Amino acid sequence: MAKMSRELKAQGINIIDLSIGEPDFRTPEHICAAATDAMNKGYTKYPPVAGIPELKEAICVKLQRDNNLSYTPAEIVVSTGAKQALANAILCLIDAGDEAIIPTPFWVTYGAQVSLAGGVVKYVKCSQENDFKITPQQLEAAISERTKLFIFSSPCNPTGSVYTRAELAALVPIFKRHPNVTIISDEIYEYINYGSGHESIAQFPELREQVVVINGMSKGFAMTGWRLGYMAAPKELAQACEKLQGQFTSGANSITQRAGVVALLSDLAPTWAMRDAFHERRDYIIPALRAMPGVKANMPDGAFYAFPDISAFFGRTDGETTITDDESLAMYLLHKANVATVYGSAFGDSNCIRLSFAAAMPLLEEAMGRMGKALGELR
Ligand code: PLP
Repeated sequence: MAKMSRELKAQGINIIDLSIGEPDFRTPEHICAAATDAMNKGYTKYPPVAGIPELKEAICVKLQRDNNLSYTPAEIVVSTGAKQALANAILCLIDAGDEAIIPTPFWVTYGAQVSLAGGVVKYVKCSQENDFKITPQQLEAAISERTKLFIFSSPCNPTGSVYTRAELAALVPIFKRHPNVTIISDEIYEYINYGSGHESIAQFPELREQVVVINGMSKGFAMTGWRLGYMAAPKELAQACEKLQGQFTSGANSITQRAGVVALLSDLAPTWAMRDAFHERRDYIIPALRAMPGVKANMPDGAFYAFPDISAFFGRTDGETTITDDESLAMYLLHKANVATVYGSAFGDSNCIRLSFAAAMPLLEEAMGRMGKALGELR
C-alpha cells in the first residue's frame, strides 16, 4: 500500500498515507549529535559482532531502570534493527517442522521468518471482544509437543493492545508447564504506551530462561533509518545468535551504536513528548472512526495504530465499486478518498484495516473527513 500510494503521489494525486509504521518525527538532536561525535572520534571500524561493550552495558542499565530486569552484557546481542534480532532468535530456535504459535492479528514478519527457518506457524485467532489478546485457554489448546516458540508483541502492531501484568501472569503457569517453548516478547513499542505502563513477560522469575526480549530504537526514539535493535536472552541463546550474526552482518553500524548509548542513557523527555503527541492523535482518531456508522474500533493502549473492524461494509457498493473484503475496502479508500491504509488480512484479520496515526493532526483530520464521506457513499 505504501508503494502504491507513492506511485499515486508521483502522479500528482494528494494521497494521505496512513499505511506506514514509522514515527513522523525527526530523531532527537542530541542523538544525531552523538553520531556526528562518534564519526569525528573515528568510531568507524568493525564493531564487536554482538555490540560495543558501552551499548550492551547501557541496554542492561535500561532493562533494570525501566523494566526491573536483571541482565548481564553477555546476555545481550545488538543487531541491525529489532527485525534482525527476531531473525537471529527464530533461526537459532526453529528447525524444520518445528511449530511456532503466533496470536492473530500479528506483525507480518514473525510468520515469514518462521517459514524461512523451515518451521510451521500455528495462528491463534484473538477476538476484538478480548481486545485481540490470547486467553490462557487458547494458549493451552494450541501448544503441542512440536511447539518451540510463542511470538507476540505488546504493545501490539497492528492492534495497539497492551497486555497487563495480570494478563501475562495468567499465561505464566502454562509456559512453565512447557519448558521447551521459548517466548519471544517483542517490546519495540514499549515507550508508546497510553495506559498504566509497560509490562514485560520476562519479569516473572520462573520464566527467566524461557524468554527472549526483543526491543530497539526505531519507534521510541524515531530512529527507524538508523537500524538498531537488540535482544536480551539466556546466555547460550545469545551466544548462538552472535555466531549466526557474525556470518550475516558482522554486527550493527558502529556509529549508530554510539548514538544508541546516548539515546538510552539520556533524559527520555523527547520520547515522552512524541508519546504525548501520539496520545493526542489517538484521542482524536478513535472517536472519529467510531462516529462513522459501520466502523467498530477498539481503543489502542499503545503503539500508533488503529485497527477498526470494517466488515459491515462487505457487500455494499457506491454504484461503481462493490466492496467484497478488507482488501477491496482499502483499495476503495485509496482511490475514492485518497487515504492509504493497510488491509487487515496482511496481519491475519480480514475484518479489519490498519491506520497509522503517526501523522500530523491536520492530516488526520483531513483523512477522517475524506474517509467518512467515502464510507457514507457505500449502501
Ligand atoms: N516489531 C514490530 C512489532 C514492528 O512493528 C517493527 C517495525 O515495524 C519491528 C519489530 C522492526 O523494528 P526495527 O526497525 O527495529 O527492525
